[in-house]
Amino acid sequence: MGTKETYIGVFLIVKGKPLLEIITKNVCKKHLKLRFEDGEKFCSECGDALITKKEEHWEKPYLYDILEEDKYEDIFCQVDSENEDMIWIVNEVFPDRDHIVSEYEFVEIDEKMVKDYVKNFKTNHKEILEVLKERVISFEIKFGVVIY
Ligand SMILES: [Zn+2]
Repeated sequence: MGTKETYIGVFLIVKGKPLLEIITKNVCKKHLKLRFEDGEKFCSECGDALITKKEEHWEKPYLYDILEEDKYEDIFCQVDSENEDMIWIVNEVFPDRDHIVSEYEFVEIDEKMVKDYVKNFKTNHKEILEVLKERVISFEIKFGVVIY
């Protein structure tokens, strides 16, 4: 069991568009269960010529599939989660007031603080949020605790 990290701050719940991946496979019509290497041309079992079969795979996107550009790639950090949608926290290399790092010894989180953090976040990251709108199905901006 690894040590868990606790993040307190703004985070996003992102519903990404599934990515279509086409996988090409060499198969033998008589031996559909056999697997062949990329360069192989004949079935090792019966010697028949292999045929090429294309398979569609729908993959869940990851943060870097959506924000590939250098200028965006370090803003968020995707945490591993059982959640259906992606959970992105704000990367701690950014000094903006998006997350509570070592800013306080102790602090009560009240309604105003939550609103301020979310508002600051939206102001500081206007550009990336616009880009995100174009590239994902939807996202929600939250303030809270993420344990990962
Ligand atoms: Zn065969």
